[in-house]
Amino acid sequence: MSRTLPNIIITGTPGTGKTCHSELLAERTGLKHLSINDVVKEKECHEGWDEEYQSWIVDEDKLLDAIEDEVKQGGYILDWHACDLFPKSWIDLVVVLRVDTATLFDRLTERKYPEVKLQENIDAEIMEVLLQEAKEAYDEEIVVELQSVTADEMESNVDRIVQWLEQWKKNNAQ
Ligand code: ADP
Ligand code: MN
Repeated sequence: MSRTLPNIIITGTPGTGKTCHSELLAERTGLKHLSINDVVKEKECHEGWDEEYQSWIVDEDKLLDAIEDEVKQGGYILDWHACDLFPKSWIDLVVVLRVDTATLFDRLTERKYPEVKLQENIDAEIMEVLLQEAKEAYDEEIVVELQSVTADEMESNVDRIVQWLEQWKKNNAQ
């Protein structure tokens, strides 16, 4: 299947900076930012609300059905805290954002995360859960781990992805 523009996943533990990176990257490139949280909510791809975790219980099949036609055309930034459900054939680059524990603690506390969810996310970041998930689901050469603690890092991360995109376009020019 050929796309004229690539699809990029920006993933990481909640609070690592996925949405900030996605918005900046969309602004710079014209790629479309697809916030999977919003899709789940708006297209009701869920089986209800989990009170303890304060989050939707996602119906992954319904979610994939809801975005398949659009995403297969290319040009999307998929912003979500999971990645291995998206078929390999849809995806050209997987960016995994990382932060240190203290930074993540501050960001999630600011968001008033419930205690159980806060601890679980901090553990997940320490255990590199998202990085492992990405490496298992996709070819290692398309998985990139980037640090997202400072604004300068965000700038240089987005610069790197823009450069990658330019190269992808050259390689895939018809
Ligand atoms: P996510 O979408 O992964 O949950 P957000 O993009 O919403 O994370 O970012 C969470 C918070 O952390 C926001 O307040 C954002 O401004 C801040 N933040 C994220 N990445 C950075 C960074 N690289 N430098 C400074 N602040 C950041
Ligand atoms: Mn987000």
